[in-house]
Amino acid sequence: MEMRYISTRGSIKPVSFSDAVMMGLAEDGGLLLPQNLPRVDMTTVNSWRNLPYQRLAFEVIRLFVDDIDPLVLEELIESSYRRFRHPQVTPITRRGDVFIQELFHGPTFAFKDVALQFLGNLFEHLLELRDERLNIVGATSGDTGSAAIHGVRGKERINIFILHPDGRVSPIQKLQMTTITDPNVFNIAVRGTFDDGQAIVKALFNDLDFKSEYHLGAVNSINWARVLAQVVYYIYAWLKLNAHGHESVDFSVPTGNFGDIFAGFTAKRLLPEGLINRFVLATNSNDILARFVNRGDYSKSAVRATCSPSMDIQVASNFERYLYYLRGEDARKVARDMRNFDETGRLDLSDQRRDVAADFVSRAVSEDETLATIRDFHEQHDYLMDPHTAVGVHAGLALREEARPMVCLATAHPAKFGEAVHRAIGRAPGLPPGLADLDKKESRCVVLDADVDQIRSYIREHVKP
Ligand SMILES: *Cc1c(COP(=O)(O)O)cnc(C)c1O
Repeated sequence: MEMRYISTRGSIKPVSFSDAVMMGLAEDGGLLLPQNLPRVDMTTVNSWRNLPYQRLAFEVIRLFVDDIDPLVLEELIESSYRRFRHPQVTPITRRGDVFIQELFHGPTFAFKDVALQFLGNLFEHLLELRDERLNIVGATSGDTGSAAIHGVRGKERINIFILHPDGRVSPIQKLQMTTITDPNVFNIAVRGTFDDGQAIVKALFNDLDFKSEYHLGAVNSINWARVLAQVVYYIYAWLKLNAHGHESVDFSVPTGNFGDIFAGFTAKRLLPEGLINRFVLATNSNDILARFVNRGDYSKSAVRATCSPSMDIQVASNFERYLYYLRGEDARKVARDMRNFDETGRLDLSDQRRDVAADFVSRAVSEDETLATIRDFHEQHDYLMDPHTAVGVHAGLALREEARPMVCLATAHPAKFGEAVHRAIGRAPGLPPGLADLDKKESRCVVLDADVDQIRSYIREHVKP
């Protein structure tokens, strides 16, 4: 069957995988999804046993892609995970009552590498085929920026301009970005806040002449290719645990934009019924998604700063993809819901609670609970985790059932969030090679005012025509 992608709001013609990747956001404001979700039977799953991660990734991803030569796709995937520091890419370790799947062995020590290494390679390939160029512009509060930069560094047809708030990202986060001195990488420290940076990026994308003349693109978490790359490790985890006799597993996922957990939901639907049982949606005190799962109340409130900053999010950009399934794949209902939400800042989904409960349970985890979890696991299991991971582990332990193993996703290396770890255990974690020597490297960054015109001019000057 031909693989086509549709919009959750129903107002675009179905497009190919490659077009979906290049489009990012659908032109009607919706998100792209496969028209028909592929499903596999147990024979296929059995044929995946013992595959190395990269091979499994190829087998899973190819189910969603029919317009890239399989040999090319396989090489894109191989090279995406070549720079991971662990041969299993996303290894699993047992600690106490949970399994921890480590997703942070990529170049920037955070799980976003799993998706952005693949997306960078995919962009490069598609731009080459189309003889096009792309200028990625994004604002970061720390993590996504460096993973995006590492995903596209050195690529011929791509430039990347990443805005970060001057003096407001951690020294390590800053160095992870600014020590990448490839000629296509432009780090801009903005004299202002993260919100200032984000507002500037929005203004640049709203300048449609500038956007099309300069081929502006984004790498935010709504790109379908990012979700797709993340589907793989859920299946990898099931295969590993099944080899130890477990028929069915649960996952606990520290959640911000709903991208990671939506990938899990996709994996669940792809596999035969029951292999993946349900997901624990773990949030920090920014709990819009926990309120949604527990009460059907999806309503915005103010963003609070926590020690797990990559989850300090109120409006989850990938939520609309799940809403599409919750609304019985009825794009008109989704479009109506999203209009409502834009106008009122809330959606009442309490009539859907039973459907939600079939796939999700949820818990909002406090700062104290997060730090206590880091401390407990360090003391009891000799395992040091970062605060995002700790949010997931705390919720996973709280909602674990005896019948099934709980796999908690570890989304960042503890050394990336040394300050929180210090607060939890009284000392900062040691820096692994690759983070330890960053301050000795050459670095490059310009400082500009939080001013759209200044930043637009800077991009103009640095894009080769
Ligand atoms: C982005 C991020 C998350 C949240 O993932 P979503 O896909 O946005 O839900 C969790 N932990 C870390 C360390 C992250 O960088």
